[in-house]
Amino acid sequence: MGLKTLAATAAMALALLASQAAAQDKGLVGIAMPTKSSARWIDDGNNMVKELEAAGYTTDLQYAEDDIPTQLSQVENMITKGAKALVIASIDGTTLTNALENAKAADIKVIAYDRLIRDSDAVSYYATFDNFKVGVQQAESLVKGLKERFPDQKPWNVELFGGSPDDNNAFFFYDGAMSVLQPMIDAGEIAIPSGQTGMDKVGTLRWDPATAQSRMDNILSANYGDKPLHGVLSPYDGLSIGILSSVKGVGYGSGDLKMPIVTGQDAEIPTVKSMAAGEQYSTIFKDTRELAKVTVGMVDAVLQGSEPQINDTKTYDNGVKIVPSYLLEPVPVFADNYKQILVDSGYYTEDQIK
Ligand code: BGC
Repeated sequence: MGLKTLAATAAMALALLASQAAAQDKGLVGIAMPTKSSARWIDDGNNMVKELEAAGYTTDLQYAEDDIPTQLSQVENMITKGAKALVIASIDGTTLTNALENAKAADIKVIAYDRLIRDSDAVSYYATFDNFKVGVQQAESLVKGLKERFPDQKPWNVELFGGSPDDNNAFFFYDGAMSVLQPMIDAGEIAIPSGQTGMDKVGTLRWDPATAQSRMDNILSANYGDKPLHGVLSPYDGLSIGILSSVKGVGYGSGDLKMPIVTGQDAEIPTVKSMAAGEQYSTIFKDTRELAKVTVGMVDAVLQGSEPQINDTKTYDNGVKIVPSYLLEPVPVFADNYKQILVDSGYYTEDQIK
């Protein structure tokens, strides 16, 4: 190669590098996640970083261990660091109003991730799953299991668990589930021996498994001396594991006491193993890879001045405005389809769920 050609090649290489650097420098995006205590949020955080980096952004990913002041200060920090956009999965959907006012004043775009941020007009968009449908699918899988395992034992004795009352999603899950269960309760097909219904009675603050476990313990000892428990509506795999420990503790799943049908959500690894072992009956898979893609599409659109893709402009009223949303499809998972849904899609490897 002659000197001239060499110089030209080097110049071209430099120009290419420079243009790549420019393409890779679309600014900082802050990602605030609620907790590492549940694997789904770890996947969410990792997927978000991967997708944002691929789109040319730098990221600041923070977890708040379910502590509201920690999440607040993490968000404030991201604003100080000059983030151009914030992606927030809130712990308590109502506590960020002031911090987000500052974000809005600094023209920082805010996307609510999976959980709606309430009481703020600073939220531009909301990326989530069809949360009402999650509840419907949970209840439908509960009923499917009751029919399979306890065909001749109506009314089925069922207990209800709700998610955290400070998480807007919890009400959508509960309402979706009750749209299926309430008519069956009214028709006498399902009994709730504890009498505990309504989110004020069945909610589980911070989605805490230990809280669910001890509530299940109390319900069993107060109401199930003379009758079997057939099913439990559980809105999240972490709670389901607590509930399963409680029922196993009093002998369900051994001898004559069949395991009650217990639902869940998130298809977390311990739950997939539990389903394979015949304990938890069902879960709902929400593909966090897809949620990250949709969210990054929103971030990129708001920052580059185009319109993001949305498919819902009616459902999510946050108290101040209806937040335009994109709702992804949840998928019910059982012992007989988890391989196809979770392994064949590459979400988990066979080894991870062994
Ligand atoms: C999410 C669920 C999750 C729950 C507990 C909800 O906001 O939508 O997927 O199970 O929080 O982490």
